[in-house]
Amino acid sequence: MARYTGSVCRLCRREGAKLFLKGDRCYGEKCGFTRRPVPPGQHGKGRRKSSEYGLQLREKQKVRRAYGIMEKQFHHYFDQATRARGTTTGEALLQILEQRLDNVVYRMSIGVSRPQSRQIVLHKHITVNGNCVNIPSYQVKEGDVIAVREKSTSIELFKAVRDGENPNLAKWLTFDIKKLEGTIIAKPDREDIDLTIEEHLVVEYYSKL
Ligand code: SF4
Repeated sequence: MARYTGSVCRLCRREGAKLFLKGDRCYGEKCGFTRRPVPPGQHGKGRRKSSEYGLQLREKQKVRRAYGIMEKQFHHYFDQATRARGTTTGEALLQILEQRLDNVVYRMSIGVSRPQSRQIVLHKHITVNGNCVNIPSYQVKEGDVIAVREKSTSIELFKAVRDGENPNLAKWLTFDIKKLEGTIIAKPDREDIDLTIEEHLVVEYYSKL
């Protein structure tokens, strides 16, 4: 599947928000958005105020890019969210995104960013309930045990995880940093999602299509 391979800092500047796509660099002075918080391009700085449609489009793109999802799959997630019961479409959409395996790997701080976590999953370093899963979009559910595959624990990347902390750990997860293993203990709540997202704008965007 085609994926965006350009500068990820450019995406943050385009969306006017930090999307945390580069790990530690995102928290330091080298962050591209902190240094140049204007849209990319020759006329980025001078862009006019957006229309209502423009705001909705930008919000949709921001969420999509933060989670690293292509348009077709994102639209599919939206359709899935419209059928959810007991919650709003916007919240259901965010829950689906949060429950992707690559996002869970990021939330457990096994990967420093969602793009890196996606790579970790693709390279077969992760197991779900003891079985190797290399599908970043895999939807986890309550009770699932996520772990670094036994064979992979000696890799430097994971040794460093053991010596580190869990800065991104959300309330709906547990993670034993020494065992490199965690459990999904609940469905993610809206307040567990730390990105500044106005999900109603995403819903409005797709409602017009
Ligand atoms: Fe975005 Fe991170 Fe680049 Fe900053 S360093 S612009 S947060 S990807």
